[in-house]
Amino acid sequence: MPSCLFCKESNSRTVFTEFGTPYLKCCNCGHLYSSYESVEHYDGYFENQKDNEAAELFWDLAHKRMYSSFSKRYMAGMNGRILDVGAGLGFFVKFASAIDGWEAFGVEISPGGHRFATETLKLTNFYCGKLEDQPFEPGSFDIITLWDVIEHLKNPRPVLQKCRLLLKDGGILFMHTPNGEIQLAKAKIKKALFGEKEGTHFLEAKDHLHLYKEKSLRRILEECGFRRTKFVHLPPIQAVAGKSGFLRLFLKNKWWFWSVAASKLTFGRLNWDNLFAEAR
Ligand SMILES: [Zn+2]
Repeated sequence: MPSCLFCKESNSRTVFTEFGTPYLKCCNCGHLYSSYESVEHYDGYFENQKDNEAAELFWDLAHKRMYSSFSKRYMAGMNGRILDVGAGLGFFVKFASAIDGWEAFGVEISPGGHRFATETLKLTNFYCGKLEDQPFEPGSFDIITLWDVIEHLKNPRPVLQKCRLLLKDGGILFMHTPNGEIQLAKAKIKKALFGEKEGTHFLEAKDHLHLYKEKSLRRILEECGFRRTKFVHLPPIQAVAGKSGFLRLFLKNKWWFWSVAASKLTFGRLNWDNLFAEAR
């Protein structure tokens, strides 16, 4: 049975069960994590990426608003080198490399993602394997991004420590990950209303091994050498559980709008949005 990422103890209670796999909450620190015993394997990720149109719809078009908002905030009018870790099919690297003054790099552990990025998107600065094994020079990046990556890592410390090493002084690490407590509440409501129908997405117990909140994300970043963590808001992915659909998307965007409003009104004390963290 996996133990808490922070307390290294198994003193936990079940807070949600997803198709037979319990999600646990640490009785000491409240960290949420999946009980799924994952073996580190990435062969299945992006391996069957045959439908290029579907890939573009989700990974490119549905992400564009979020990426554009990111580039306006962190890249516009500046120049430098940006690295995307867990770059998947490479759409963010492609997006970033089109921005004036920026050289964009990607690292992806799955051979399928790497193949798509280099063969279909024709990306050249795109590497296959673990970040820790890549030949990058310390202090050689201005920005490192981790889009929807940290929740998949059994122990994110080696990756975060390596990011710290690769960033220049004053460089920014940027992360997007689900907001654990909010996702848990939504999953409970969904299950109560609709039950466990095959194919329903709840918390992704076999993929999302850790669900963070502001406090735990800040804590893991500090453990890995980051000193200043700040939470911001970017527009959400324009799809729900990988699908578009007017009503679901409308509700998602409304939720986002009110989350940002609540955060502003409470000076950041309430955050119902996904977690978008910048750390230096
Ligand atoms: Zn704990």
